[in-house]
Amino acid sequence: MVIPVCRALISVSDKTGLIELAKALAEQKVEILSTGGTAKAIRDAGIEVIEVSDFTGFPEILDGRVKTLVPQIHGGLLGRRDLQSHQDQMQAHGILPIDLLCVNLYPFEATVASGAGEEDVIENIDIGGPALIRAASKNHSHVAVLTNAKQYQPFIETLRTQGGSTLKQRKEWAHAAYARTAAYDAAIAAWFAKEHDELLPERFIISGERKQVLRYGENPHQQAAFYTNDEKRPGVATAIQLQGKELSYNNLNDTDAAFEAVAEFDEPSIVIVKHANPCGVASAQSLSMAWDLALRCDSVSAFGGIIAMNRPLDAELASKIVHIFSEVVIAPKVNADALEILSKKKNVRVLETGGMPDPLAQGVMIKTLAGGFLVQNRDNGRPADFKVVTKRQPTAQEMEDMIFAFRVGKHVKSNAIVYVKDKATVGVGAGQMSRVDSARIAAHKSAEAAQAAGLSDPLTKGSVVASDAFFPFADGLQAAIAAGATAVIQPGGSMRDDEVIAAADEAGIAMVFTSMRHFRH
Ligand code: 5GP
Repeated sequence: MVIPVCRALISVSDKTGLIELAKALAEQKVEILSTGGTAKAIRDAGIEVIEVSDFTGFPEILDGRVKTLVPQIHGGLLGRRDLQSHQDQMQAHGILPIDLLCVNLYPFEATVASGAGEEDVIENIDIGGPALIRAASKNHSHVAVLTNAKQYQPFIETLRTQGGSTLKQRKEWAHAAYARTAAYDAAIAAWFAKEHDELLPERFIISGERKQVLRYGENPHQQAAFYTNDEKRPGVATAIQLQGKELSYNNLNDTDAAFEAVAEFDEPSIVIVKHANPCGVASAQSLSMAWDLALRCDSVSAFGGIIAMNRPLDAELASKIVHIFSEVVIAPKVNADALEILSKKKNVRVLETGGMPDPLAQGVMIKTLAGGFLVQNRDNGRPADFKVVTKRQPTAQEMEDMIFAFRVGKHVKSNAIVYVKDKATVGVGAGQMSRVDSARIAAHKSAEAAQAAGLSDPLTKGSVVASDAFFPFADGLQAAIAAGATAVIQPGGSMRDDEVIAAADEAGIAMVFTSMRHFRH
């Protein structure tokens, strides 16, 4: 049912699109009521407007904390047009109906993001705005509520063509309105939680803005969308897509894994990811050199992979990347000449994030399960204590490679075994149910990679190896020794540590305990 609009209340902090809306209302002879700042903007544009305080006979008080919290306004929004008793009461109290509400709230989120002080933040908690929005939305059978400038144009169109809004529109806008006030309160609750340094409040509220409706989810029969809620952390949420096909659910998931992993390294580095696991990681003097090493680790899996880097993508690297089929390339910046080269592969999705995320930053991770969800903070840990537990000490080069391998292991699904030589992975074993299988699979793949490269020795010969969690038995370690590893890094802490250390000593290799585990399930 189309409801005509005779009277509108507009109270907006963000004045985008305001004048266009007010003009359209004035054209249709709609009476416009407005709060101080909004009324001034409308009046300045030469459009007739009535101040709410003149309409109600009650001034704005308490520095604007009370502007619209009066019965004439809330009665006008909440009164049912289809109930005689409501009509009678409105008439008895001199309350006039308001058919359209247009409100956007004090910029609480932006104020917090700007790093403003407590007093400023508190003052930016809008009280009257959410009350208006909730009232009008409850009465959406009779009242239209606009809370977002994107809704103005569709409203103006039906106002012009049909003289008001349709029930379908009003329901849609009421839904958007309640989602907005819920998100607003969620942001306020999150601010209080942060103030109290509370990661795990009694009620955990999460809210995000839909950035993209995806073609489908992990599989074609699943629906999916991408929601963002921290556009300050450079990554998939901030990325601008410079070319290529539409990003899929799996693309986004894998690209995030790749970019977060490459952010761990200071030197120019490349991470190639397949199915959320790195299949090649390397640091070198240049991205181009790092690429050669990362690709060598497992060039078979790299086919159709995600390529992430921590430096601007240059032409030299781009001309190498185009030789293999990739799904996504993500970089903090993409040089113009590099993009030109990549444009030959027009399906490849190229993303520019504008920066690198801080691997040590705090953050929250959420995982859903039947009937609830698990919350934890990001695994931003890095071991500080490296204890040599074997007779043999690692060399400086081994130590450097072990730290690199352990850091890569953090981004590999458990059980994770990572072989590294000269700051490049030479074998990655991921996601196996047994650690010894991960060690064997990584070595086996490495031997294949060496064969493909025409080398006589497996790449793991003379490498170091990292395990994301302790070796429960000596067998996993023995598999690594058999593959040619000369030094091992692992958290330690197994009941059989003595057995494992003895096996290392027997083979004459060095072993380091980190006392920190990096499970990733
Ligand atoms: P203006 O710029 O028109 O002076 O103020 C617009 C803002 O005031 C809007 O963001 C609206 O949500 C908010 N607002 C409207 N009525 C009230 C009220 O009674 N109390 C508070 N705190 N804010 C209000």
